[in-house]
Amino acid sequence: MNKKRGRFSRVLLAGEIVILGVLVFLIFRAVRNYESVPAASAAGSQAVRSAELTASQSTGSAASEPAESAAVQSAESAVSLQETVLQPVSEAASVSSPETLTDVNALPAGTVLAENQIDSNHLESYFISNEIAEGDAVYQRINQKSYRKNDNIGLSDLRYLKVIFRDFNNQIQVGEIIVNAKLSDDFLTIFQELYQKDYQIRQMHLVDNYWTGDGESTDTASIEDDNTSAFNYRTATGSSNLSNHAYGCAIDLNPLENPYVVFRDDGSGKVYHAASEAYIYNRSSDMPHVITHDDFAFQLFQEHGFSWGGDWNNPKDYQHFEKKVS
Ligand SMILES: [Zn+2]
Repeated sequence: MNKKRGRFSRVLLAGEIVILGVLVFLIFRAVRNYESVPAASAAGSQAVRSAELTASQSTGSAASEPAESAAVQSAESAVSLQETVLQPVSEAASVSSPETLTDVNALPAGTVLAENQIDSNHLESYFISNEIAEGDAVYQRINQKSYRKNDNIGLSDLRYLKVIFRDFNNQIQVGEIIVNAKLSDDFLTIFQELYQKDYQIRQMHLVDNYWTGDGESTDTASIEDDNTSAFNYRTATGSSNLSNHAYGCAIDLNPLENPYVVFRDDGSGKVYHAASEAYIYNRSSDMPHVITHDDFAFQLFQEHGFSWGGDWNNPKDYQHFEKKVS
């Protein structure tokens, strides 16, 4: 009796293992097919999901072969339809590649773009100024971090810029930066001209990505990562007064190569980041990413009425450009 029951159990167990194996295989195949769908946009992903839902409803099984193909095909056609819709009708003829990027706002900062994704006839479309409103996605990232409600600067005084630039590997990257609304046109023009000159910037993210709990040490963390940034509601380095960064009126460009230097009485300079030691004295325009009076970024910012921290006596702040607004 026991022996018989034992054999029966083994048969049952073997059956369960086979069923489990088939299920795992079907799930694996479904996941693999799902990942192969170009889901670059939320709408695309939505299409995949709704197509899958339709397929599973009509066949009773999301994993059966025909249903999967139908789901993938329908998702692909939804994605290509969306790409078509995104192209402005009047400009459709000038699009050089079906992969041309039409909405830089849709991509997160740090995204690396292929050369053929840029339509050089409409470069200005990759340099965008956005308002920030309470509750929106940018607000959610900055609230109680680089931004908090105060009497000096409001959300309506700030603009969130999306731009493209050349990184240190000469690749095209998407960047983000928050600046004063009155300077947003200056910044957009400058960034576009920097891009056209292949001027290299390490990276450009909001300082909130480095948030440590207070504005000053967050600034330190952002600099350690050689991050280019502007707005941060904080005091000036070594002072209890608000920094021009607190108004979005100052930018720190490639900060490790262009450090904040305090000179001692004996003439020696002190920096706050070890990686900047090599950039205190031996600063020449031949060195990559070093800002001097011969540097293209310096010349552009000067043309637009900015002053440069490298022209201060002591300390010198080689990364820093600022412009007063009325
Ligand atoms: Zn600065």
